[in-house]
Amino acid sequence: MPRVCTICTHPDREAIDAALVAGDGFASIAREYAVSQDAVARHRAGHLPERMARTPKAAEVAHADDLLGQVRALRSKAMSILLAAERQGDLRTALAGIREARACLELLLEVEGEIDRRPVVNVLVAPEWLAVRAELLDVLRGYPDARQAVAARLVALEGARAG
Ligand SMILES: [Zn+2]
Repeated sequence: MPRVCTICTHPDREAIDAALVAGDGFASIAREYAVSQDAVARHRAGHLPERMARTPKAAEVAHADDLLGQVRALRSKAMSILLAAERQGDLRTALAGIREARACLELLLEVEGEIDRRPVVNVLVAPEWLAVRAELLDVLRGYPDARQAVAARLVALEGARAG
């Protein structure tokens, strides 16, 4: 029997998802909605990105779009905090901004990973590719010019895919 997620089936699921997207702590969400902290963590890791990426029903699409919009808004807010802090030389605020921006980016990447399942995207992080890549650069060790050219091409390719 698959375990039923108490967050997915929770009447306040949308509010819980929004709180997760806003970066509220698992403990405070668990307290507020009378659910277990483990369930919140499991839901955040296993269901939230998938739910945000999935598009089965119009209502769900609106919800997913809304969450994505919130993540993007939070990301730009975090980035502007970061830039302001950098300008003023306020390291503590800058670090908080970096943390917030990173958390938003991580969530966005998870969501985009769910949406974008093209194999070409995954191949660059696949262990097989990394092994081939390492092997290739190792073989080219005796040919510094070729090695440098190949490495530059790989970095450009991977940068283009990642960006
Ligand atoms: Zn869930």
